[in-house]
Amino acid sequence: MSFWIDTHCHLDAAEFDADRDAMRQRARQQGVALCVIPAVHAHATHVAQVQQLAHSWGDAYALGIHPMCAPTAGERELRQLADQLDAARDDPQLVAVGEIGLDFFVPELCTPEMRAHQDWLLREQLRLARQHQLPVLLHVRRSVDAVLKALRQLPPVGGIAHAFVGSRQQAEAFLGLDCRLGFGGAMTFERATRLRALAATLPHDAIVLETDAPDIAPSWLYATAAERAAGRRQGRNAPEEIPRIAQVLAGLREQPLAQLQAQVLANTLQALPRLQALLPGNTA
Ligand SMILES: [Zn+2]
Repeated sequence: MSFWIDTHCHLDAAEFDADRDAMRQRARQQGVALCVIPAVHAHATHVAQVQQLAHSWGDAYALGIHPMCAPTAGERELRQLADQLDAARDDPQLVAVGEIGLDFFVPELCTPEMRAHQDWLLREQLRLARQHQLPVLLHVRRSVDAVLKALRQLPPVGGIAHAFVGSRQQAEAFLGLDCRLGFGGAMTFERATRLRALAATLPHDAIVLETDAPDIAPSWLYATAAERAAGRRQGRNAPEEIPRIAQVLAGLREQPLAQLQAQVLANTLQALPRLQALLPGNTA
């Protein structure tokens, strides 16, 4: 039996307030056995919601401070995160430290001071991940080389470069640091020729699947700027899209879907070993 796993989805997002349980149920019907829900900051209510969703659905979660939350995160928030990781130490549904990383795309995060602050926050969280022997879920936007530099200095016990966009050389650098690459909606656009070429030719153990729901809508849900101006809302991405995203990947790699599914599952369990115990049939 094989399953799909969405390795990165923000199912606590307000976009799902109206139909959260039904949305998760639809994904389950599509064979998405597990979702990994990353926290984005250490506020108690947010962390409680992420944990509660994972616990109520039998899913997995990660704890961490997202680079976009860096402006309001300092020593105090890091201590909070450290306490939360300690408290969840024996929770089998905690599978990683994340979402952590660097964002050099958002202008207010790109001042020299804020870049340095993000880098400090990332390194402190890489240290926490090493202490807890947990893999990392990495946000890497316009920052591949800076994230790689931090990883080389503080090597993780594995992880995922989420929503990977980069060169083959950068992809191989992540693989060399025992990190897999998260592919999702971005690869479904025909114009994404470089990313699709990479998806088609990376080694078989390189790729894991993700939606980044509710964001990074695949091509079939995407509303163009013109459509949005005409009143169409941007399509909401959800874990139920994973099988169709996988079909695109299987097409690019000229691989039978079932074979790709088994390979991607193996890769995901390599990246996030604690998921193994959460798979259907494996729960104690
Ligand atoms: Zn994310």
